[in-house]
This record gives sequence, structure tokens and C-alpha cells, in this order.
Amino acid sequence: MPPGSPSLDDFILMKVIGKGSYGKVMLVRHKAEGEDHVYAMKMLRKENVIKRNQVEHTKTERNVLEAVSHPFIVTLYYAFQTPKKLYFVLEYCPGGELFFHLSRAGRFSEGRCRFYTSEIMLAIEYLHRLNIIYRDLKPENILLDAEGHVKLTDFGLSKEGIEDNFSAKSMCGTPEYLAPEILDKRGHGKAVDWYSLGALMYEMLTGLPPFYTRDRDKLFERIRRGDLTYPSYITSIAKNLLQQLLMGDPTKRLGGGPKDGEEVKLHPFFSGLEWNAIQQRRVTPPFKPNIAEGGDVKYFDKEFVDLPVVNSEVADGAHLRDVNHFEGFTYQANDLEERPVAGR
Ligand code: AMP
Repeated sequence: MPPGSPSLDDFILMKVIGKGSYGKVMLVRHKAEGEDHVYAMKMLRKENVIKRNQVEHTKTERNVLEAVSHPFIVTLYYAFQTPKKLYFVLEYCPGGELFFHLSRAGRFSEGRCRFYTSEIMLAIEYLHRLNIIYRDLKPENILLDAEGHVKLTDFGLSKEGIEDNFSAKSMCGTPEYLAPEILDKRGHGKAVDWYSLGALMYEMLTGLPPFYTRDRDKLFERIRRGDLTYPSYITSIAKNLLQQLLMGDPTKRLGGGPKDGEEVKLHPFFSGLEWNAIQQRRVTPPFKPNIAEGGDVKYFDKEFVDLPVVNSEVADGAHLRDVNHFEGFTYQANDLEERPVAGR
């Protein structure tokens, strides 16, 4: 590895803030960049990644994160590896998961739901233009930045190079948000993200994902049959949008045609929205996180934050800069000057 490339030694591990499928996510500080420059460091155990056949997914996540640059998608600043782990150093989103706020609020008003949905839609539309499908839209993967704007994270399930509605074949995603064509392994494409957007909106508006039951088989059966009940407080415009997004047949689904997100934007639920203002982050979020400077973790679950920050990394041989396992993984962003300062 060339001298000066990023390594674990460059960071101070401050707090555990989350757990993904293959490792922890920690709040870290870059030693040389000063007190204010905090990041979220996502760690993946290579052993787990290999054992569970996630090597390709992990490479995709790394490539997608490098390729994208969007106001509503987390920025990757560094990536590197040690003999045992892979590390992504990401923009820290101090507002935490949308799920955290939804659990507290019970459900969101249609106005608040519309705001988050509009920012998520622009991110999805952007990914689709790059022929990337996201496939894992759920409240845990939608984070809020310090101002309350949306940031999509976790590209471990995304897929590159999809131009149509049937090329992707693998079964993935979180059951509650899975489009029926994924369950049936019929082949799927961009339209799955519009289905998941519908599932997510349903959860924002009612507090539970559609077809919800703890029984996995029953859940799949309900998703396939698609008969969903809507509480009476949901307005007819919102209900109409949900019905069109949750349409079982991807070719009839809103957004499923060649116009993709453009079609979704035209639905009356969004009438009056200024899409340019949204894209430029000029629309004031309905909720602004109340965050202290220097890496506040108040919007993260105590279950994680209270965990000890053990430096198991040293025992893992972190000082040995072994680079051969995941070739081409190391990364350093060019525009480090533009990175945000914590709490601002
Ligand atoms: P992931 O494995 O990417 O789904 O991350 C697991 C959890 O860690 C997420 O659900 C968040 O709670 C947290 N997390 C991940 N990335 C970030 C980030 N950039 N900023 C703040 N928290 C994050």
C-alpha cells in the first residue's frame, strides 16, 4: 500500500452507534483533522462476509459509494482493510435512523411523510439513472443529517448495471419491504425500489409496514395476495399513491415504466412541491435534530451507545496492512476540504 493511504491508526474510536449484518458501526474521529471531524466507521468482518457469500455485495457497496455524489446519499470518505476487517469511513449522520424518530412519534403526518419521501425519491431516481437499484429501502437505512435532511446509507444489497425490470435474480432485501417479484424470483429491476418506497410510506403514515405479521410465511402470502387495509385517517390521495406503488405487477406499478421516478413525481400527493428546491436542500425539514458539536449520539439506541469501545482491532493485527484479500478496496475522497463539520 502506498505511504499516506488511510489506515485504522488514523482514527480514534469514540462510540458504538449501530450494528449491521456483518459488523459494527462506530463514531470515530480523525486524529489529524481535528476535534470536529467525526465520521461513522462501518466495519465488516471478512470471515463473515466470505462465509455468507457477501463478497460481491461488499465490492458493489464499495464501488457504488465511490461512484455516487448526491445530497441525499451518504458520502464515503475513506475505505481500507486490515487482515480481518473491511472499513468504510462515511459521513456521520447525527440525526440517526428515521426508524428511531418514527418509533418515538408512532406515525408521521402526511406533510412530514411527503418531505422525507420527496428527498428519498430524488436519491432513488439518481441511482436509477446510474443503473443502480437500491433494493433495501427501509426506515433503518434512512438517516438524518444535522439539519434533518435525509441520507440513504447501506448499499450492501444494491445492484449495478440494471437497465430493465427483470435482469436481477437474487433474493434479497428485508421481507416487509420486498416486492412480490423478488419473492417469486421472477427477475426484478428498478420498479422494486418504487414498491419499497410505497411500503416505507405506508409505515411512516401508519406506524407499521404493510401486510405486517410476525409469521414469515403468512407475510409472504399476504404480500403475494396484495390485499391491504388502509386506516381511515389516510387521505384518499395518499391511499391512491400507496395503492399504485404497492401494485403487485411491476409493469403496472407507478414508476415501473420507462419514465421511472418522473412518473411518481407527477402523482397529486406531491402537487405543489418544488422539486428543484428539494434537490438543492432549500426546503426546511419538518424536524431539526438538536445536536451538540463534536459527535453527539443522542439519536442512537442506548443498546449500542452503552457498549464498551474495546480496541479489539489491535489484537486483530490491524497494524499489519494486508491488502490482498479485497483488491482495490482502499479509497480516499478527493474533496476532503468539503466535508461537513460535526453539529453544523
Ligand atoms: P448498516 O450496516 O450500514 O445498515 O449500518 C447499521 C446502522 O449503523 C444503521 O442502521 C445506523 O443506525 C448506523 N449507521 C450506519 N451508517 C451511519 C452513518 N453514516 N451515520 C450515522 N449512523 C450510521
